[in-house]
Amino acid sequence: MQNHLEKSTKKVPHAVLMQRAIELAKRGQNTTTPNPNVGCVIVKDGQVIAEGFHQRAGQAHAEIEALNSAKKNGYSARGATLYVTLEPCSHVGKTPPCADALIAAGVAEVIIGSPDPNPQVSGQGVAKLRQAGITVSEGVLRRQCDELNRGFFKRMTTGIPWVTVKPETAGKVLCRDDQLGHRYCR
Ligand SMILES: [Zn+2]
Repeated sequence: MQNHLEKSTKKVPHAVLMQRAIELAKRGQNTTTPNPNVGCVIVKDGQVIAEGFHQRAGQAHAEIEALNSAKKNGYSARGATLYVTLEPCSHVGKTPPCADALIAAGVAEVIIGSPDPNPQVSGQGVAKLRQAGITVSEGVLRRQCDELNRGFFKRMTTGIPWVTVKPETAGKVLCRDDQLGHRYCR
């Protein structure tokens, strides 16, 4: 049984902060295509020092947004705990790998919702972080985190595109919906 004192001094549960990261991820809902929606919260000494979310494909990932925001707010992320809805990337895409940035920033602990759905890189971000001595917890609110990126995950695991962008629709995103067929999302 849990010790009473331990219970009363317990820090904010991981799920509460992950829920906040999920809310942030949702802000990118209509603009991140074909990238996933990702949210991130950085906590240090029991206080949220920064937040971030992925806003647009080709731009900074959520983790980088949050790290930059911490810096801007005058905080160091050294020794901090970072909550992120999706496993940090470990490969060079349009932007440098987030795992490297987290290591360089001196983050002590990383709490992850969903694993990377791409079978070629899944688990590599986590492995890289652990190799650098960072404590990693996975699968926190995984169902809700997975739900953020249903289409992206489907595409990554089956190779079937969920979202198609047609240049002639001038920035409009054509979404394929299982129930409704093709329609414009925005
Ligand atoms: Zn990344």
